[in-house]
Amino acid sequence: MTQIVGIDLGTTYSAVAVVNEFDQPEVLTNRDGESITPSVVLFQGDVPLVGTMAKRAATTAPLDVVEFVKRAMGDPAWRFDATDGRTYRPEEVSALIVKRLKEDAELALGAPVTEAVITVPAYFDDAQRQATRDAGRIAGVDVVRVLNEPTAAAIAYGLASGFNGSILVYDLGGGTFDVTILRIDGAQFDILGTDGDRNLGGFDWDGELMRLLNERFVAAGGEDLLDGGELEAALRERAVLAKHSLSSVEKARVVLSGSAAPITLEVTRDDFEAATSALLSRTREMAEMVRDNAGLAWTDIDRVLLVGGSTRMPMVRRMVETDIGRPIERRIHPDEIVALGAAVQARLIESERGAAPDLTVNGARIEIGDVTSHGLGTLALNPDSGRLENTVIIPHNTKIPAKRPSYFSTVHENQSQVEIQVTIGDDTDPGYVRNATGDKPLMVRIPPYPAGAPIEVIYAYDIDQTVFVEVNDLTAHTSLGTFEVSNIANMSKNQVAEAADKMRTTEVG
Ligand code: ADP
Ligand code: MG
Repeated sequence: MTQIVGIDLGTTYSAVAVVNEFDQPEVLTNRDGESITPSVVLFQGDVPLVGTMAKRAATTAPLDVVEFVKRAMGDPAWRFDATDGRTYRPEEVSALIVKRLKEDAELALGAPVTEAVITVPAYFDDAQRQATRDAGRIAGVDVVRVLNEPTAAAIAYGLASGFNGSILVYDLGGGTFDVTILRIDGAQFDILGTDGDRNLGGFDWDGELMRLLNERFVAAGGEDLLDGGELEAALRERAVLAKHSLSSVEKARVVLSGSAAPITLEVTRDDFEAATSALLSRTREMAEMVRDNAGLAWTDIDRVLLVGGSTRMPMVRRMVETDIGRPIERRIHPDEIVALGAAVQARLIESERGAAPDLTVNGARIEIGDVTSHGLGTLALNPDSGRLENTVIIPHNTKIPAKRPSYFSTVHENQSQVEIQVTIGDDTDPGYVRNATGDKPLMVRIPPYPAGAPIEVIYAYDIDQTVFVEVNDLTAHTSLGTFEVSNIANMSKNQVAEAADKMRTTEVG
């Protein structure tokens, strides 16, 4: 029996953890002795390189380096074109990262790793979760659970601290923002609400600082560095370094060079905070929305967990402590807590299988009640308006696993099939929801009934928030089948199997 590992597959950094022989979750260091591995891949030569060495190449070989691939997960159109002519899907790039994490974990454990719990942002939808599972499969890792990152952070924290009360998890990473409110009562973890922005993270703070630095560089006689190539990559690297130092000092000096002599610029923390205040406000507004939806006031939140590297920015801490006025839990490691929680979940699965003892809080087994991060619905014609409308069947923030029926009738005589469109989102306007089935709706054959024959469609989210649809014929009282919605955004099973075959013979460095 091999151990299930917990993987935090981050936008900028990833980490792997396991629960050790003392029942404590611990992060495994990678082959270079680092506890986190940059989620960066360099395609050069025969062996793709993952991690710190790949990240270093970002300025010298920007066209062969992939960063932030997590932002592309679930995007069917995204491809990375390496300069050698090969192209990669987001799942394949992620798989290279997973493969490297798997091999490093095998080195650290001295045993094969074949199964993992992988964390994802809570707001990841079905397609993005499926893409993550496929990345694991391509890398030769069976993803036994897809766990929400804030939930992972909360269970690691709750287990270590024995804390009871309501907490808000504010997770600002490299490319994503996630906020979740939950209640911890002993061994019971109940998520009360969650939301996020897949395009808000340290990357955006970098972008604002790059614009500011570029403006000053141009004003001082330099050329425009935002060229989309090497100059911009170098500017990004300098901007990230300056951003990091502004987390601990008030001023940073930045040396920038175009084709002419280098120019030294100074940027203060105030300049940086002014340039990025709108981004910070977006995180606050989202936190307030989640709090409102949970029916809570700020005073109901006992503690805030800051997760993700970007929460090291003093502006984030000040907003939470001074503007919102809630205490921050300082005893957690923002880079490791998510992986630790994934390891705890992995152990819970092992104990469910009877392969390991239970992990308990005061003798009680840990129970996690998570919720849906998106509404699930269907498109149907509104007979009154004559317009296509989205009907939400399982609303956002419903406890999972969730199952809800909805009832339809056939419209034509001898109709031989029903067509089901599955949507993800919370709006009644079809323009504001994602059509998971696209132009290939689920087609289910039915016996030739007269018009008006009742059909029951049961929508379901399982514990991983994978979407299932069950269709029942209420005339004959028979099941017409249960279907996993094969998202148009995802790779087919064959494509995944082929990519996995290719990966088996691919070395990663
Ligand atoms: P993810 O989960 O998205 O991979 P992380 O939680 O690892 O991201 O956070 C990475 C982000 O944190 C990057 O944008 C990085 O620049 C930022 N970051 C790390 N350390 C600091 C720091 N000292 N000050 C400001 N930002 C930081
Ligand atoms: Mg993260």
